[in-house]
Amino acid sequence: MAIRQDDNPPNRRFGIINLVLIGFGVLLLLSNFLPNQGSQVPRVPYSLFIDQVNDGHVKRAYITQDQIRYEITDAEEGAPSVLATTPIFDMDLPQRLEQKGVEFAAAPPKRPNFFTTLLSWVVPPLIFILVLQFFARRQMGGGAQGALSFTKSKAKVYVPDEESRVTFADVAGVDEAKTELNEIVDFLKTPERYAAIGARIPKGVLLVGPPGTGKTLLSKAVAGEAGVPFFIISGSEFVELFVGAGAARVRDLFEEAKKKAPCIIFIDELDAIGKSRSGSMGVVGGNDEREQTLNQLLTEMDGFTGQDKPVIVLAATNQPETLDAALLRPGRFDRQVLVDRPDLSGRKKILDIYAKKVKLAASIDIDKIAQATSGFAGADLANLVNEAALLAARAYRKEVEQSDLNEAIERVVAGLEKKSRVLQPDEKKVVAYHEVGHAIVGHLMPGGSKVAKISIVPRGMAALGYTLQLPTEERFLNSKEDLEGQIATLLGGRSAEEIVFGEVTTGAANDLQRATDIAEQMVGTYGMSDTLGPLAYDKQGGSRFLGGGNNPRRSVSDATAQAIDKEVRALVDRAHERALAILHGNRGLLEDIAGKILDKEVIEGDELRDLLASSTLPSEAVLAPV
Ligand code: ADP
Ligand code: MG
Ligand code: ZN
Repeated sequence: MAIRQDDNPPNRRFGIINLVLIGFGVLLLLSNFLPNQGSQVPRVPYSLFIDQVNDGHVKRAYITQDQIRYEITDAEEGAPSVLATTPIFDMDLPQRLEQKGVEFAAAPPKRPNFFTTLLSWVVPPLIFILVLQFFARRQMGGGAQGALSFTKSKAKVYVPDEESRVTFADVAGVDEAKTELNEIVDFLKTPERYAAIGARIPKGVLLVGPPGTGKTLLSKAVAGEAGVPFFIISGSEFVELFVGAGAARVRDLFEEAKKKAPCIIFIDELDAIGKSRSGSMGVVGGNDEREQTLNQLLTEMDGFTGQDKPVIVLAATNQPETLDAALLRPGRFDRQVLVDRPDLSGRKKILDIYAKKVKLAASIDIDKIAQATSGFAGADLANLVNEAALLAARAYRKEVEQSDLNEAIERVVAGLEKKSRVLQPDEKKVVAYHEVGHAIVGHLMPGGSKVAKISIVPRGMAALGYTLQLPTEERFLNSKEDLEGQIATLLGGRSAEEIVFGEVTTGAANDLQRATDIAEQMVGTYGMSDTLGPLAYDKQGGSRFLGGGNNPRRSVSDATAQAIDKEVRALVDRAHERALAILHGNRGLLEDIAGKILDKEVIEGDELRDLLASSTLPSEAVLAPV
């Protein structure tokens, strides 16, 4: 698609003002220099001039404010007969000249010419306006509009052209969303068909999903497939400093769009303007503005009925639960399309798309990469392939190899490798036992994943070491046992520290956080507690796409709240005991692997599998059901 800024006369006006100003400047300089034509006349000191007058050599003098030009009677051959000097304050001069019979005259006082007057009136205001405009432009966030037009919508317009347009072929792994959006493409292509039968074409479609799953890409693809113009603007761009500017922008945007119909308006991050009005009490400032903008949006969406050419509003958000209910009413965003993270086969298709863009070695197994990237969104996968290509290029390889991809996965998973960060030897030892603790417990726990790698090379900002667990199969459901296993695995690190060193460090903070989250969800969301029963104590919605954790709780009695807390605590405690039992039972192996990893920093593959194969599940770690 060709990208094009909105038609932009203010920008041109700005250029013309600039030109005029530069012209004025040049003239001003010239007018300063022009009157000084007399500069070729040789200058002499004033005293010499007086001497010459006294000696009667001066014939005539012409006196101006900053120069006295005079002619001498007896100039030598070749020497100039006209000289100049700078006047000093000398009241006796006229008298003296008169005495010596010098013919003299004075220039009339200098009157500012019309031109300089004009300049002195015009230039300062102009400079003022320009400065204002400069700041207005900056404040608009670098947009191309000037101060005089800050209500213009800042939408960018894409007009699909043949070579660069995005189509559904560029988006993979979101088949359901594609099917739904295909219908929209049809509305845009042949609105007559729907009008003929009296069907109302939907006005708004809300794309809902976590960041990086391809919402923006999908809406571009809709425009590309339908071959219609595409206005794109982010919700946050509506909300500006001036109250009322957002609403004016919405109006402008829809006006522009109606002129170009059929077309698509895409509002990214709709939640920036569409936050629930009742739920936004605690937010400081900016509410009035957002509310006005939202109201204008609703008005506009209600407005364009009866148009034979459709304007369809697509919007994207990753927090649908925060949206104002008014937005979701029929006639507005009445369709919601879920764009979720891709599953195994989806990831494979997305990887295929991006693998075509780089040179891959023939030996590479895309399936394996897809398996190892569970939970990655489309954008992560695109990033992953690019990261691998960068690694290959840095090593002067001609093709991307499996090792590059593996390294890239780790980078994306655990942040960039920070080789420069050096652990103290005693810290390193703690990290080694901690990670091996995770690995041994993780290996023995159910849950459909296997421990693939242990590393004590620091990565990213937070992780000092890590244990990589890869799922052996794609799973959508976790049993209670799986989750208990996950909690035990998370506590394995700290348990190893307790057993070996008899004390604990701060290194387990993140593990504890995640373990507690899982336990809370088991009780509050999944109804997995026998004492509390299959009730969902957490309200649905909380932050479904952002990893959960802070769901608001239903109103429960104090006794129930206490029971929930007790149950969560019991789950974590039991998992902790389990991890301790496993590690006590495999103490020899723990020492063994920790010693190895302190040497090599990384253990993976067959070596790790063989080592872990000798671990045993002690009977006291097989817990009876609660
Ligand atoms: P979102 O708008 O959902 O946050 P984007 O559409 O901006 O995500 O995705 C960012 C980039 O990630 C896209 O430009 C594309 O390169 C890649 N991407 C994301 N999802 C997909 C997908 N499903 N198929 C192909 N590429 C994808
Ligand atoms: Mg986006
Ligand atoms: Zn840990």
